[in-house]
This record gives sequence, structure tokens and C-alpha cells, in this order.
Amino acid sequence: MTVSTTEASSSGGESTLDWIDTRSEARAKAGLSRRLRPRTSDSTDLDLASNDYLGLAKDKRVAGAAAAATLKWGSGSTGSRLVTGSTELHAELEFELANFCGSQSALVFSSGYMANLAAVTALTGPGTAIVADQHIHASLIDGTRLSKADVVVADHCDVGKVRHALETRGKRRAIVVTDSVFSVDGDIAPLNELHEACRATGAALVVDDAHGLGVVGPGGRGAVAEAGIVKAPDVITTLTLSKSLGAQGGAVLGPSRVIRHLIDTARPFIFDTGLAPSSVAAALTAIKILREEPDRPERALTVAHDLSNRLKEAGFQVSTPTAAVVSVRAPSPEQAFQWAETCRTSGVVVGCFRPPSVPDQISRLRLTARADLTEADIERAVRVIRESAASAGVESRPR
Ligand code: PMP
Repeated sequence: MTVSTTEASSSGGESTLDWIDTRSEARAKAGLSRRLRPRTSDSTDLDLASNDYLGLAKDKRVAGAAAAATLKWGSGSTGSRLVTGSTELHAELEFELANFCGSQSALVFSSGYMANLAAVTALTGPGTAIVADQHIHASLIDGTRLSKADVVVADHCDVGKVRHALETRGKRRAIVVTDSVFSVDGDIAPLNELHEACRATGAALVVDDAHGLGVVGPGGRGAVAEAGIVKAPDVITTLTLSKSLGAQGGAVLGPSRVIRHLIDTARPFIFDTGLAPSSVAAALTAIKILREEPDRPERALTVAHDLSNRLKEAGFQVSTPTAAVVSVRAPSPEQAFQWAETCRTSGVVVGCFRPPSVPDQISRLRLTARADLTEADIERAVRVIRESAASAGVESRPR
């Protein structure tokens, strides 16, 4: 049904539909419209945009486990975790995740987004303080908004600012919130220093290790494990199962008393349908593969460094990777878009990050390395990115 905008605004109030149209036109003018691009199953494109860092999403063992779990348990979990949505598989995954990463306990969610909302909101509330890094993921930001806590945004990776905010918070309870590996540039947070600041002031540290799991740390156990703080009583780690594990879902890791607190109080846990058995089984199998093939994380890192070095040599402004994310700066949102589009029509799919998805208004191509990329793939990617830059008017200064 189409609603006439004239009718909608006849009461005198501003018309929502007119407002939508105006905003939409403004985004189009600024080159910020987005569109969905359904993938086809027979595509031969080279994928440098997905989060399948270890190439496990299509691994027959992982996909096969998902299919078998669907046949055994059904296609959905059938209810919220506290009613019918917890199967033996969920319990096994929680045990395995905690065991693999080295934490005391784990709780599985329907997504990493929900895990972040849950961790932040359940640990805070009105009259408490949250000190958040300026570049945290949108799901953590939304958690801070939902919490109704007092939020201090600290400059990116500025431990001095975090410490100052903690020391001047008065009597309020506090948490510090950060990503381990940041989504946009792939840089890593000073986790040990942040933890030290938390310990000294009685705050808890919440770390989103979405991009660390499977790539960083011993055998891919994540950046929090790498920092040696995964067992600390005041550290809570959140994860997604949708990146290196090639599955779907999220998790919170931490001391058992924190996990019990989440089960009793976290609304994104209590009121959400449990993760589908297929995703649980896929994640379990991916962890098993990580244990059996511990060189996969290192291969993903090597590919990331290779991509970064070759693009730097070609004269672009490229991040130095700490995990699988490699970002390449573009002069403007329009050029970033055209650069990414030209790559795509040449068969190489790259991510395009533009405002409002970037914290510093700088547009970028975002490449993700994968453990299963070959030398020929890397060469093809670098050639196409270089050639596409010219057609988007992006200058480079080859070394
Ligand atoms: N945190 C970070 C840093 C992420 O990049 C993402 C996914 N884009 C999430 C959380 C959300 O995870 P999920 O996709 O499982 O909801």
C-alpha cells in the first residue's frame, strides 16, 4: 500500500515519509546510498570482503556438521535459551569455547551484536560509568546507549585518557569498553595497559575480540589470550562466531559469576531465540579444525602482510595489519565507492567503508585476508586494485 505524503502530513505535523525522501536524496547526492548485492553460488569473484578469515565457511566438515545438526535437532532452536532453545550442542559449544580460549566460562548468543549488547547492558546501568574507545564497534556503542550509563568517549587507544576518566569517576561503578582489533583499520588496542588501569581503579574491562579470534594469539585463541588476561577476574571478552569460525552467532567469555549474572539479567540473552543448532555445530567443528590445523591463523596473517606490503609498494596508504583486516585509504567517499565498484566489475570484491561507518570520516577500501588465498589470488588482487585506482582517479606514489 502506498501512503500519500500529502495525506500523511495533513494533520500539521512533519510527514515521516517526506523526511525519508529528503534524507534519501541527500545521501544519494553525497554518494552515500547503499545497496544490497546478493551473491550467486557459482560466482568466480575473488572475495576480499568477507570475514571468513580461515576459509572455513565452505569447508565441507563445517558445512556438513551444520547440515547434520539441522537434521538431528531441527532448523531452528525453537525458543529462547531459558525455555527450549538450549540443546546439548549449545552446552558443548560453551564448554569448548571457554576451554579453547582459556576462560572460566562462556555463554552463546544468537549473534556477536547481541553478545555485545548483553555484556555492556548487564554490567552497567543508570548511575554507572562507561569509558569507551572512540573507535568501538557499533554494537558496543548501541550497548552503551541502551545502558543509560554515563559514557565517556576516550580518544582512540589513549590509555592516559581512560585512566583519567576512571580516576575522576567518583563513587560510580565503571567498565572500560574496547575492541581488541578495530574493525576499520585493523589496529590493536593496548589491552595490558587498559587492564592495568582497570585493575588499579576497580573497573572491569570488556573486550570485543571479534576480529582477534582465529587469527591473533596462540593457535588463534584471540587477542585477549595473547595479552595473557583471558582468565583475569575483571576481564569479559565478547566474540562473534561469524568471522574466523565461518559460522554464525556470538559469545561472552568470562568468570562463571559474570556468566551466571548474564543468564539471569541480560535482556538480549533472555528475550532472544537461541542460536540455531546448525550454527552451533558449525562453530564447534571450526574450533576442532583450529585445534587440528593450528597453522591456519598464521597463514591468514601472512596473507594480510603480503597484501599490505605489496599495496604499500604500489604507492597506496595502507594499514600495517595486526590481524586479517587491511585498510587502504581513499581520498573521498565517491572515489572509494568508484574504486570498489571497478574492482568488483574486474572480479575482485573488496569492502568499501565510508561515513557514517568510519569513526574519523576517512573513506577506505577494506580488504580481508584469508588463510586459503593463493599466491596467484594475491597477485590478481593487487593488480586489479592498482588498475581500478587509476579509473577512480586515486593517485598512488609507487616506491
Ligand atoms: N564486533 C565487531 C568488532 C564486529 O566487526 C562485528 C561484526 N561486524 C560484531 C561485533 C557483530 O557480530 P555479529 O556479526 O556476529 O553480530
